[in-house]
Amino acid sequence: MRWALVGASTIASQHMIRAIRAQAGGEVARVVSGSRDRAEAYAVEHGIPAYGADLTEALADPTIEAVYISTTNEKHLPQALAAIAAGKHVLCEKPLAMTVADAAAMVRAAGEAGVTFATNHHLRCSGSHRAVRALIREGRVGKVLSVRVFHAVHLPENLQGWRINSVAEGGGVIPDITVHDADVVRFLLDEDPISVVAQATSSGMGQGVEDSAMSVWAMPSGAMVMSHESFTHPFAGSGLEVHGTQGSIFASGVMTQKPVGEIELVDAAGRHAIPFDVHDLYITGVAEFEAAVRGEGQPAATGIDGVKSLAVAAAVREAAETGARVTINYGGTT
Ligand code: NDP
Repeated sequence: MRWALVGASTIASQHMIRAIRAQAGGEVARVVSGSRDRAEAYAVEHGIPAYGADLTEALADPTIEAVYISTTNEKHLPQALAAIAAGKHVLCEKPLAMTVADAAAMVRAAGEAGVTFATNHHLRCSGSHRAVRALIREGRVGKVLSVRVFHAVHLPENLQGWRINSVAEGGGVIPDITVHDADVVRFLLDEDPISVVAQATSSGMGQGVEDSAMSVWAMPSGAMVMSHESFTHPFAGSGLEVHGTQGSIFASGVMTQKPVGEIELVDAAGRHAIPFDVHDLYITGVAEFEAAVRGEGQPAATGIDGVKSLAVAAAVREAAETGARVTINYGGTT
């Protein structure tokens, strides 16, 4: 598949160019940046044959089949709508947009245009998360009572730009990391949170945006979810725990971009190390996106999954700002 990158970003450079090229016939044919000079430098650095600052020109190229959008968050909406209008399939970064209504509009537009539209929630693609999900579905923990998500990390210095100081570009740990955690919990439990309570703060890095958040979510099944995200915790480590009536799952080091970590199931019979596949998360995500374009199944995370993860994050921010329990508004998605 021939792809255009919209956004000369770090994530494309570190993961997605490689993931696209790893597919059979996968080509990164163009890059579009807000700056022509930057597009050129990026194209040279990554061996991309065409570049420019004109999205319309890139989208007019009939040989481009799919677009990967990884600009700052406020640009996702107009860029995705333009790509969809040009008949391109779109893999868009999270958060899909600045508001749930905008994200829902993107999904609607893609549906009307008949193109595949997906969200790049990579954690669903990891062998570790898929193994935890399988344990839950096999009934190995019985009825799920609670989930704890530990996603307090240290934001690398090279990413300490718009994420920590720009409301306009969608900064803050809630749009950055809480969306991932929302997607993970929805993926693991196959249900959508109903309401949240939350606190957020700036603990030394955020300038005008929160750099840390903790929230508790109510699930339709009655399970409780506790989620912690931060940019400021160098030594906390990441992970998740799922506690049920018949067992508990401890997955450590798994909230990451790499296929690493450890999973242990503890039940009445003792402690069991759980093996999992260690494939590249992003290669799997692109493979499943391309398969969906061919009519084989769904992308790992659909557009609706992206709307829903944003809806949970938006509710967490509102709850933290108001101190109220917030019922999640999924923007009309079901
Ligand atoms: P970056 O800050 O690296 O890139 C975002 C934009 O900033 C780029 O599109 C580029 O604009 C501009 N930019 C980047 N580097 C420079 C530079 N050195 N000088 C000037 N401008 C620069 O962001 P990320 O790659 O971290 O994130 C991009 C998107 O991807 C976000 O939506 C984020 O939430 C998401 N993301 C998703 C991850 C996942 O695992 N799913 C992981 C990380 C990010 P232009 O294109 O105009 O040149």
